[in-house]
Amino acid sequence: MTSGCAWDRVALQRPIAKRLKAAVESGKVSHAYLFVGQPGSGTLLMAQALACAVLCESGGCGACPTCARVWNWSHPDLVRLEPQGSAGYTVEQARELVHDVGLRPVAGAKKVYVIEDADRLGASAANALLKTIEEPPPSALLVLLARSYESVLPTVASRCQVVRFAPVPEPTAVALLVERTGASPDQARAALAAAGGVLARAEALLRSPMLLATRVLAFDILKRLPYMDGHDVLLAARDLLAAVRAPLEDVKAAQAAEIAERREYFGTDASVKPLEERHRRELTARERESVALLLGSMASWVRDALAVGAGREDLAANADEADAIEEVARVMSPAAAVRAVRAVEAARERVSYNVNPQVAIEAMLFDLQEVLKCPR
Ligand SMILES: [Zn+2]
Repeated sequence: MTSGCAWDRVALQRPIAKRLKAAVESGKVSHAYLFVGQPGSGTLLMAQALACAVLCESGGCGACPTCARVWNWSHPDLVRLEPQGSAGYTVEQARELVHDVGLRPVAGAKKVYVIEDADRLGASAANALLKTIEEPPPSALLVLLARSYESVLPTVASRCQVVRFAPVPEPTAVALLVERTGASPDQARAALAAAGGVLARAEALLRSPMLLATRVLAFDILKRLPYMDGHDVLLAARDLLAAVRAPLEDVKAAQAAEIAERREYFGTDASVKPLEERHRRELTARERESVALLLGSMASWVRDALAVGAGREDLAANADEADAIEEVARVMSPAAAVRAVRAVEAARERVSYNVNPQVAIEAMLFDLQEVLKCPR
């Protein structure tokens, strides 16, 4: 795994990687792919590997600045889309995409669009996109990701080459994380639980001291929650959000430098518009990732309490929290544990429907506090 080639990162789905690699090398890449697989099956990572192979001059060497930008989602010709409306992709998003696909690539000959949650592409947004998916300009490659084939509109699915991803078994994912990050198996298991099984997200957590610190803070708040008053809870929510946003500061600084450079070179505000737009998307995507990890960590903690309470210590994911979880599990009824799990799930849902994360986190903490104060 040290050769660094882009395809090595998707070792868990080797047959698919092999097929896509062959397609790139023989110039037979499809214009649109639909990757279907449950979270954790590696669809997003595979989309990145494919983007690397297509955008990098050396076919995805994994070592050049182009490859680095693809893995950071900061390459100008790599666009990652998520639904912006509460009901999924909006028609405006679809129209923007159609417009963008028509523009020439910035750096090379190709542009890659990764369209997440393609199952949330409703009829109106999909209609606006159909022609583009069917026959994009030769410079564009569309990669749609979805949980299942059945959940994608047939009009969309039928215009793509479908690639099905099998789920990755947990022990395999743990072993890979241990090998890649040097984490212990316990740490890898905890990260995987926080990441909802998504390997790339678990790896990002294990590699980031800031994200790991956010996890520790989240658990600390869960333990103190029963003793907090309303004001403390609001402060805790603020602290969590600040922790989630801390890693974004470096990204913002790099973006500001890039804008300044571009403005100096072209001398107009209009010339930086598309760049600002891309930066905004990148920041939103990063913040959502951090929030997802935070809520995932908290969900796994309360799930552990539920499992331990039911005598299934073997299912607990957060070994470093075993004592605290044991203490909570001793006094918490199964019904209360289920309420706690629901409180976190509700926050995740609100965030996925674009509710302000601060509001979602505050509401979750108040709900959790009620359960932890009165765990019967
Ligand atoms: Zn490269």
